[in-house]
Amino acid sequence: MTALGDLLIARIARTGPISLADYMADCLMHPQHGYYATRDPFGAAGDFTTAPEISQMFGELIGLALAQAWLDQGQPTGIVLAELGPGRGTLMADAMRATKAVPGFHASLSVHLVETSPALRKVQASLIPDATWHDSVSTLPDAPLFLIANEFFDALPIRQFVRDGDGWREKMVGVSDAALTFGLSAAAPIALLEDRLSDTKDGDLVEHCPALPFITSTISAKIQQGGCALIIDYGDWVSLGDTFQALKAQEHIDPLTTPGEADLTAHVDFAAIAAQTGPAKFSRLTGQGVFLERLGITQRAQALATKLSGDALTSHIAAHRRLTHPAEMGELFKVISIYPSTANPPPGLEP
Ligand code: SAH
Repeated sequence: MTALGDLLIARIARTGPISLADYMADCLMHPQHGYYATRDPFGAAGDFTTAPEISQMFGELIGLALAQAWLDQGQPTGIVLAELGPGRGTLMADAMRATKAVPGFHASLSVHLVETSPALRKVQASLIPDATWHDSVSTLPDAPLFLIANEFFDALPIRQFVRDGDGWREKMVGVSDAALTFGLSAAAPIALLEDRLSDTKDGDLVEHCPALPFITSTISAKIQQGGCALIIDYGDWVSLGDTFQALKAQEHIDPLTTPGEADLTAHVDFAAIAAQTGPAKFSRLTGQGVFLERLGITQRAQALATKLSGDALTSHIAAHRRLTHPAEMGELFKVISIYPSTANPPPGLEP
């Protein structure tokens, strides 16, 4: 068992089983032992790879899409360009480089990064030294907000509930034979799942992300004054079924065996995001592959390919395929935008 595992076992022995959300929060962000709090997990040598780490094209196209949205909204000044959970900062650095040539854009913006991991803040600062860091979206300035969140919502802790008649049993983490184990609480009605009684049946499992409503409504209120958000993640329209998973060294593992040493994620419930955007609007949920094609990834890939040969060219072609192909990230990952009720959606997305 890991050091964090021993702490959790002692805590559960003292005060009883904890929710999956409490377990995830400690595993990811415990100040001494949390997975993100203590390390840089990205890249081929790490536990997983994300789209901005696969190719510079991803951040470039997203940066240009936000700059186009800024042009379409009449080039407001004093805007906030923000990213939630920027990882290594690669996406923001690529977006800034690609938008240098957009007249007036950089002069109109300041960069704000919402990141709780001290280890990752350091990595981000080496690429984007002029940024301002935040622990939460609540301290983002009151200004038009152009925001990116790639694989951020999937890292937020979730609770899981199994339908039992007209009530629900919550999945809990307890201890048995000195090891962490899953159990179910007694059935009870759960007010926040009232609307799920109509689209689930006995035995179905649904997931609920407690932090999502506040984050989404806070950014949406700012966006209604100007700006837009591009939220990219794997997930589905409505949560149904167990999507909780642990990744270590690019392999799926049992999420209870190495607390603090594996990445824990769950699919994003995009309907839960959409439910919190008003009075701002949300776009149609769109596959990442279609979105990137609409932004011109193939033309960009061809332009970059003319300067490459040998292994570099082969891996560039593989990266394009990986980001867009339906059998790779193209359909598993989806994009939704939040945009003002007075504006059109950003490029690549439809109302
Ligand atoms: N967007 C990056 C990294 C995704 S991993 C990429 O695409 O490569 C998730 C990121 O969110 C990490 O930077 C992690 O430290 C951060 N994070 C996780 N939970 C957070 C929270 N509650 N508040 C702020 N940042 C968080």
